[in-house]
Amino acid sequence: MMWSVSFGLILGLLVGSFLNVVIHRLPQGESIVTPGSRCPECQMSIRPWQNVPVFSYLWLRGRCGHCGCQISPRYPALELLTGVLFAAMAWRWGLTAQGLLFMAFTAALVAAAAIDFDLQIIPDEISLGGLAAGLLLAPAVQTLEAGAPYAQAVLQSLIGALIGGGVLWSVGFLHARISVATGRTFPHWPGEGETPPRPQDADYWLWFPGLGLGDVKLLAMIGAFVGPLGVIDTLLAASVVGLVVGVSVGVFQSNWKSPFGFGPSIAGGAILVIILPLHPLVLGTAGQAAG
Ligand SMILES: [Zn+2]
Repeated sequence: MMWSVSFGLILGLLVGSFLNVVIHRLPQGESIVTPGSRCPECQMSIRPWQNVPVFSYLWLRGRCGHCGCQISPRYPALELLTGVLFAAMAWRWGLTAQGLLFMAFTAALVAAAAIDFDLQIIPDEISLGGLAAGLLLAPAVQTLEAGAPYAQAVLQSLIGALIGGGVLWSVGFLHARISVATGRTFPHWPGEGETPPRPQDADYWLWFPGLGLGDVKLLAMIGAFVGPLGVIDTLLAASVVGLVVGVSVGVFQSNWKSPFGFGPSIAGGAILVIILPLHPLVLGTAGQAAG
C-alpha cells in the first residue's frame, strides 16, 4: 500500500512535469517531444538536474538556472497536483492495469483542464484521442481484471460516452434555442452583426453560447472511461466543483463575471468520481481501496 502510493506520487510528479510541456505546446501545434524543456525567458534548455519536479524549483528558489528570471509557481504546483492525484489513484485502484489506466486518464484530464482554463479550448487530440483510447482500453482492462465479458464492457463504455456527450450537447442545444426564442444576447454569440444560425447551417447543431463543443467531447471521453453511472455522477460532481470554484473566485477576486470554462469543473468532477466512486465504475468490482 505505502509502496504503491509512493510510486504513484513519484510517477505523477514526473508526468506532471511532462504535462507542463504538453499544456504549453499542444495548443500551439508544437511537438511535445522535442526540443526538451526550455526557459521561457532566455530559451536555454533546462538540464536534467534542473528539471527534477518540484525540488528543482525549490532548490533554484523559483528562478531559471541560466538567466535568473522568475519561473511561475504554477509549474511546480501542477507537478505536485499530478503527483497527489496519481497517489490517490494508486491508493484507490492499486498498481493494477485499471489503476495505471486511470492515471493516464487523470493526466489527460489535468492537461485538458489547464488548457481550457488558459485558452477556453480543449484540443481534439485530448478529447477525441482520449475518447478513442477510452473505448479501446477501458473495456479491455475491465475484461482483463474484473473478468467482465468483453462485449458487455464495450457496450458500457459506448453507452457512457453517448450519455456524456449527449446530455451536454442537449443542454447546449436547448439553451441556444431558448436563448434565441427569448431574444437573449451574448457577447460572442452569434458574432457581431450576425444572425443566429438556422437549421440548415452546421453551426445550428454545433455552436452554442456559453458551452463549447470541447466540453461535449470531453464528457463523451469521460463516459468511455467511467461508464453510464460514472458519467452521470461526474456531471453532478462537476456542478458542485463549478459552484465551489465559481463562488471562491467571486469572493476572493470580487469578480463574478470572469469567463470560467466548464471544462475544469468537468475534469475535476471526473477525478473525484474515480477516487470516491458512488457507483461501481468497473463491472465486477466496486472500486474498493486496493491493498
Ligand atoms: Zn532563463
